[in-house]
Amino acid sequence: MGYVFDFDHRHERPPMELKDLLGGKGANLAEMTSVLGLPVPPGFTISTEACRAYLTAGWPAGLDEEVAAARARLEERMGKRLGDPEDPLLVSVRSGAKFSMPGMMDTVLNLGLNDRSVAGLAKQTGDERFAYDSYRRFLAMYGRIVLEIPGEEFDRLLEAAKELAGTDADAGVPVVLLRFLCDSYKAIVERATGRPFPQDPDEQLRGAIEAVFRSWNGPRARAYREHEGIPHDLGTAVNVQAMVFGNRDDRSGTGVGFTRDPNTGAQGEYGDFLVNAQGEDVVAGIRNTLPLSALAELFPEVHAELLEIFARLERHYRDMCDTEFTIEQGKLWMLQTRVGKRTGRAALRMAVDMTSDPAIALSRAEAIQRITEDHVEQVLHPQFATQDLEVLTTGLAASPGAAVGRAYFSADDAEAAAARGEPVILVRTETSPEDVHGMLAAQGILTARGGLVSHAAVVARGWGKPAVVGADALRISGRRMEVGGTVVAEGDWLSIDGSSGQVVLGQVPLTAAEPPPELQTILGWADELRTGHLAVRANADNGPDARNARRLGAEGIGLCRTEHMFLGEDRLPVVRRMILAETEEEERAALEELRAVQREDFRAILEEMDGLPVTVRLLDPPLHEFLPDVAELELKRATKGLSEEEERLYGAAKAWREFNPMLGVRGVRLGVLKPGLYSMQVRALMEAAADRVAAGGRPVVEIMIPLTVARAELAEARRWVEEALAEAGASGLEVRIGTMIETPRAALRAGEIAEVAEFFSFGTNDLTQLTFGFSRDDVEGRMMSAYLAKGLLPANPFETVDPAGVGELVRLACERGRASRPDLKLGVCGEHGGDPASIEVFAGAGVDYVSCSPFRVPVARLAAAQALL
Ligand code: PEP
Ligand code: MG
Repeated sequence: MGYVFDFDHRHERPPMELKDLLGGKGANLAEMTSVLGLPVPPGFTISTEACRAYLTAGWPAGLDEEVAAARARLEERMGKRLGDPEDPLLVSVRSGAKFSMPGMMDTVLNLGLNDRSVAGLAKQTGDERFAYDSYRRFLAMYGRIVLEIPGEEFDRLLEAAKELAGTDADAGVPVVLLRFLCDSYKAIVERATGRPFPQDPDEQLRGAIEAVFRSWNGPRARAYREHEGIPHDLGTAVNVQAMVFGNRDDRSGTGVGFTRDPNTGAQGEYGDFLVNAQGEDVVAGIRNTLPLSALAELFPEVHAELLEIFARLERHYRDMCDTEFTIEQGKLWMLQTRVGKRTGRAALRMAVDMTSDPAIALSRAEAIQRITEDHVEQVLHPQFATQDLEVLTTGLAASPGAAVGRAYFSADDAEAAAARGEPVILVRTETSPEDVHGMLAAQGILTARGGLVSHAAVVARGWGKPAVVGADALRISGRRMEVGGTVVAEGDWLSIDGSSGQVVLGQVPLTAAEPPPELQTILGWADELRTGHLAVRANADNGPDARNARRLGAEGIGLCRTEHMFLGEDRLPVVRRMILAETEEEERAALEELRAVQREDFRAILEEMDGLPVTVRLLDPPLHEFLPDVAELELKRATKGLSEEEERLYGAAKAWREFNPMLGVRGVRLGVLKPGLYSMQVRALMEAAADRVAAGGRPVVEIMIPLTVARAELAEARRWVEEALAEAGASGLEVRIGTMIETPRAALRAGEIAEVAEFFSFGTNDLTQLTFGFSRDDVEGRMMSAYLAKGLLPANPFETVDPAGVGELVRLACERGRASRPDLKLGVCGEHGGDPASIEVFAGAGVDYVSCSPFRVPVARLAAAQALL
């Protein structure tokens, strides 16, 4: 098989299925030409395979010959030759990758013009102005894209020519000046390259093809692919197509048309066009475009033909299509089509509408598959209303939605500003539990450090607050920060987009979050499909969050992190008293106090989740997280001195300080050192459950031990829990005892661990951290971006579960666990539980549910259904 295919080549499969080979644009051009028989200017596609070969080993052998043969066929068909001094053929050379990358790669138009053929074009069209304008455009495009001469050099001269002619419009430049511009452009090329502008069409064609290949690796294209998760090794196809001219005269024009409204999903054609213009003019927005409906008056026949084509395209692709078309002297030509991009609102409406459209007859399963995570997020959260932004910096997109507020650099200042009625963006190097009040008061959160499972990210997601974290260009000091030379002071306006990670200075207008009714329809269909197979729960640790989770469709709580209950202002001193206790009595008294408050928290959660399972995890983090920072106390000690209480805290903080807290005394190990703690938590929970039963409720409780590594350790922890249950008189209640699987050892030994656990919940945050040996708090930012940029990792494993390593451990643990206990319940409660690609991996491993932050629940419901399809 060769590298070059005419648009009407007879492939073995429908060309629209050959995007890997022909790229999206090439596949659709071939489909329109050979399957649909639409009026498409003839041409040929050089495959992505040729591009890949070029990128690895230079210009492929045999390609020149294939291109020459395809060119000859095209010339034959058109009855014109490239470069012909009498009646030249002109072609466009455009990129076209498998996935659309709008504006990221290069295009050369009007190729085939030279000093002789321009005269032929003038003669044939009877329009010298048109011919020299086309030549000028070609010289500048070729110079910029193929010969890599800065575009400004050409633009400057064009501006000067317009000034000289006393006009603002390109079209107002007279022929003499256009001829002069052509000569000047050629001189620029000769000066920059040391060679005259290539006059030979063969050389022009090869140069343009090579430039398109090269543009695959241009910085814009690379950055776009990284953002969109498109692999770097696909390469682009190149489409060489006979030019048609929308700028010939007033019987010509060019436009962009959609078969439905891509913003709202409303039925009926939508788009813009310009009379007497080339495609670039529509996109560049220089002239005011006319709505597509105006075609009906200006070009009634073309309008009718276009609508007929739109109907055929929708029927054929069974989806909304976007198109580019050109009218040349009254004749309609289709230059491109593809299934069109759309907003979330439009996607939802179209998917639902198309199930009852007899021409398309989408099934419910297909409708579900048409909706992406982004579509759902877009309608659930406010977004930036404009894309035309000057971005200050970009961090990690940690919690979706956009927010606007004034910058405050400490939690106290943020809280005070919010109390004065100001919208606030809290900006911190990183956040800790001590910042929670400021985070609560803020519209959005921005941090310089930390990754997708950092404190700021997890807390913000839990509350559905927009957050950008790990924006490592921020230099924060006191009440100001500097970002790449720009200073942002306290009170300055900032806008952040937690869906893209963008940070913008000033107030960006936002669109409102307005879920259309079709969201409920689609989620309802998704629920029907997955019920009984893959449930969706939420991670929540208080009553209001639990209520919210249930409203968004959660079927229980998969993770209640009880440490969050210890951090309230009224709780922290009691927790510290427990840590500082010198006698057993003091410790018991502190634990009793904690029990009373925890009981209330649990009661509220169980009430909200009545009848649904609630998984309560016993205390997990290292104790020093509840103590003040040693370095801060040291500083205060050396400068102002410490109170007696502070001295004691300082002593405790030093005693509990660990070099590597993530690997120190945390999880069940904490329970081994302080068993009273876990008994207290179980008693509080059981009392809350008993209160609920007394009130006529039906609490369903699951008690979960974190970070276990061995059967013996879990058996011991289980014994404390059972003793506490017996003490609390919990008979008659539905209680299960299980463990988190967060260490590779636990995953490997799942068979024996399951003997003492009724359920497993995979803590994939820690499991990822420990499997890779990547600290979840330290590798984001510099290291992760370098790894992703170099392609050393396909994706950030804290965002999308690593299917080969961590995913394998999950599969293995499910298998071994279920082998020893067939009715073992399996869930996932790491942050991956809300990520669609990860949900697919977990569904493949056979888990019973995923659990994620409440605001992710709708996305997880959809993704769970998609994973089962
Ligand atoms: C986990 O490790 O995946 C988990 C859910 O626990 P945490 O994030 O609280 O460590
Ligand atoms: Mg964990």
